[in-house]
Amino acid sequence: MSIQVKQISCLDDNYGFLVHDTATGATASIDTPEVEPINKALADEGWTLTHILNTHHHFDHAGGNEALKAQWSCQVIGAANDAERIPGIDRQVVDGEVFELGSASVQVLEVPGHTSGHIAYHFADDKVAFVGDTLFALGCGRMFEGTAEQMWSSLEKLMALPDETLVYCAHEYTQANAAFAITVEPDNQALQARVEEIASLRAQGIPTVPTSIGLERQTNPFVRPDSGNLQQTIDLVGGDPVAIFAETRKRKDHF
Ligand code: ZN
Ligand code: FE
Repeated sequence: MSIQVKQISCLDDNYGFLVHDTATGATASIDTPEVEPINKALADEGWTLTHILNTHHHFDHAGGNEALKAQWSCQVIGAANDAERIPGIDRQVVDGEVFELGSASVQVLEVPGHTSGHIAYHFADDKVAFVGDTLFALGCGRMFEGTAEQMWSSLEKLMALPDETLVYCAHEYTQANAAFAITVEPDNQALQARVEEIASLRAQGIPTVPTSIGLERQTNPFVRPDSGNLQQTIDLVGGDPVAIFAETRKRKDHF
């Protein structure tokens, strides 16, 4: 493991993350939800900000770009096909591209649906992924700029990562997601256990992020279209994955 990840609570329920390459000192902020806590985390660790890696353009993800860039002269990396909405962007990246953060390599995954230009960053050697607002613990992002087909294929792309991959999502939405998840897959025992664990963690103010691909595969209804229990609950027994995903998302929107 060549990188260290520091998780930072920002705004109401956002998480920011610093990724520090121990070999070279290169340090990236994954999104810029709030300048002050990011700067405090950098100061606490004695790290110098060298990069910003944006997942998407929303204010709670790119709102601190300009202030941090002005202060640190760091390089801002974001999606080529959303460059005009990423403040201060210096380097445009596309699906499948691999770039270096110091000595760590980072692969770009285009995962549209929440926004049309949403990307994720996969540190394959370190088994870590930063997924922004695409995949959440027990949930997924709202589809503001995409179709169910797009969002589903984005989620499939993430679920194809190895089970042990740690997934850093950008919001602490897990308890609300759990309350919904158990209504659509009530018989899932792994989910039942997780709901209890989440309640206990949140009662103690402990983050439920990161999660892992394997845990989401077992418990997150948005990536479990094959679940018979889910299919029964939403009345789509034998339905195709996109239809099951779309119906699950619709029910969550109205939950
Ligand atoms: Zn967003
Ligand atoms: Fe967000």
